[in-house]
Amino acid sequence: MKAIILLGAPGAGKGTIAEGIKSATDYIHVSTGDMLRAAVKAGRPVGLEAKSFMEKGELVPDNVIMKIVTERLEEGKADARYMFDGFPRTTEQALMLDEVLDGHGGRVEHVFLLDVPRDVLVDRLSGRRVCKSCGAVYHIRNIPSKVAGVCDLCKGPLYQRSDDTEETVLNRLEVFKKQTQSLIDYYEKKNVLVRVDGSKKKEDTHAEIVSVLRTAFCSS
Ligand code: ADP
Ligand code: ZN
Repeated sequence: MKAIILLGAPGAGKGTIAEGIKSATDYIHVSTGDMLRAAVKAGRPVGLEAKSFMEKGELVPDNVIMKIVTERLEEGKADARYMFDGFPRTTEQALMLDEVLDGHGGRVEHVFLLDVPRDVLVDRLSGRRVCKSCGAVYHIRNIPSKVAGVCDLCKGPLYQRSDDTEETVLNRLEVFKKQTQSLIDYYEKKNVLVRVDGSKKKEDTHAEIVSVLRTAFCSS
């Protein structure tokens, strides 16, 4: 069981990049944010535990996160490769992930840190719109849908995530800053951190990551 991690502030483009990597490789995409939103929508107990934290832009407690992540990993094959997006978010979660991977003879291969300036993050998040039916992501100015409020792909209605409002966005960025430096240090010490410029076109960021994955694959 091997893993790569997409690390970056809210709005850094983890979800978008993950979609691309998923189609180009055999990594299984695990987004704790998506899993939590699905659990909230389905009214599952973990969703109820997580909801109030998510609405304020606070982190959901580590034990709740580890429960959904380990459940998910147990469904998979022993030789699966995972791509985590939005996880780990605390050093505690990183330690627990290492333990789980270790138990399966696996490890974290690369951690891609998507670097994006703060003003770009705020603009991306506050203008983000998501399709209620298929999850496709738009931006009111940068990636507008052809018809305002309607998904190009499935004609579903577009909505703004309840945590993409300005006040919650600012809090999420604060929380990220407070929690992340220690994670960056943690992975830097393990020699797996790769910094990528996340402010460029998504094709460029994608190419940068895929080239690291291919090089690593050929030399392993
Ligand atoms: P973003 O990275 O843009 O904030 P996510 O969809 O990854 O969006 O996360 C949305 C919310 O879900 C977070 O603000 C947090 O409340 C919760 N969450 C997601 N992943 C984690 C995690 N690994 N640990 C704690 N909370 C999490
Ligand atoms: Zn759609």
